[in-house]
Amino acid sequence: MQEQLQQQINRLRKLGASYVDARWYPVEETSTLAILNGNLKDATSSRESGAGIRVLYKGAWGFSASSDLGNLTALCDKALDNARAAAERVTFPVRLAEKDAIHSSFTSPSRINPFEVPLSDKVNFLMGVDKALGQAGVSQRFSQLNFMHKQTLFIDSEGSQIEKTITEVFANLMVIGIDSQGQMQQRSFRLNRRGGTRGWESIDAAFFAENAERIVKELNQLLVAEDCPKEDRSVILLPGMMYLQTHETIGHALELDRILGYELAFAGGSFVTLDDFGKLRYGSPRLNVRADATLPNSPGSFGYDDDGIPCQNVVLIDKGILVGAITGRQMVEEANARAHRVIFSGSGGADRATAFYRVPIERMTNINIDPGQDGKLDDIVRNTEKGIILDTERSWSIGSNREQFHFGAEIGWIVENGQVCRVVKNATYKGDTIKFWNSLSAVGDESTWQLVFVANCGKGQPNQIMQLGHGIPVCRFDGVRIGE
Ligand SMILES: [Zn+2]
Repeated sequence: MQEQLQQQINRLRKLGASYVDARWYPVEETSTLAILNGNLKDATSSRESGAGIRVLYKGAWGFSASSDLGNLTALCDKALDNARAAAERVTFPVRLAEKDAIHSSFTSPSRINPFEVPLSDKVNFLMGVDKALGQAGVSQRFSQLNFMHKQTLFIDSEGSQIEKTITEVFANLMVIGIDSQGQMQQRSFRLNRRGGTRGWESIDAAFFAENAERIVKELNQLLVAEDCPKEDRSVILLPGMMYLQTHETIGHALELDRILGYELAFAGGSFVTLDDFGKLRYGSPRLNVRADATLPNSPGSFGYDDDGIPCQNVVLIDKGILVGAITGRQMVEEANARAHRVIFSGSGGADRATAFYRVPIERMTNINIDPGQDGKLDDIVRNTEKGIILDTERSWSIGSNREQFHFGAEIGWIVENGQVCRVVKNATYKGDTIKFWNSLSAVGDESTWQLVFVANCGKGQPNQIMQLGHGIPVCRFDGVRIGE
């Protein structure tokens, strides 16, 4: 297949294509297992293979993909025909940033392929978790495992050839109870980084048992808790909440295609403009943000993107000032041309496609906040006069340009004069993105930093679900409106 694809790429070049790439997926497997109240609710799996061909012709893209690789010539001709048709209507001819030809491979760190683990072991694990969750106060309990394993080969007309083998494991647990006012309360736990690998071995029974016990205890505290007050307070976000704040109001806002208006029809735009790079004060000087696809063991680390660019560690916000974006080869060229200055010196290596039959677009890698100098969680609490600690998203609503937000958290802990006083339920907070990030008044140290996995970020039209990570410390913001 590799040789045949190479021949097709050469043929398309002779027919006038200025660039061609092929992504061949010999195999992609996914599976989901879920248990609801002791019953197997979901046990689905899928397996697919195929190839996608992308052709650039006179400044326009053409794409075609199929799982039937019996007639590669027809498949490739279709991609070229699509590009020819698009070239007649192109408004901004596509240019691609320079890159090196790469012969390499990437394998995600995984010791045990989850697809080689017997189904009975997986179901037994979930049944054990379900049993641990089945305690007083819990009216519904849910536990889920998701697995993904894929092999891909990328070849392009510029001499690159990259093989990738990627394995992902995701897990989450949730308990639901009804409080004294008849309202539903919930507490959940999601697998985050465990050790240096992300295969089946990351499903550590003791770790899940410990967290199952904790979420049941916290649910029971919620069932008898008062409502979150409606007032202004300092908000201390634990990584389980802080990751979403970062995802929605930094990550999505800094996707370069979105900034250039390409996502408006579906996922929305961004309040950020090309003029903002190098000068917008996005947050307080404590804020340092990076798109780090080099981090070991995260779904946001994938070796090479789907343009064949090596993964990078790109600074997005430096001491509060906006300096970078989430970028791929095409958008950096267009942004520099539109801005009439060089904002981006090359691709940031963040173009990814969710499947062989989708084209790559800018996706978050690991959008991380650097640990700060404000100590451990206890230190931050001790230095907070009137605050609330929040964990785990329960609801979210974000302006289409990411300029405002309103988030609900599963649980809140009121802080008065440096002490944690009580749990509150129905906790929410809201704000304006720039004002909020500028109110960042404490960033926790390395001990508070956690890598949270995101299994289902959606973007693009047609929709593409992507996996990524957020390495996040505990952060405190001042003067935030809560409870409404
Ligand atoms: Zn997302």
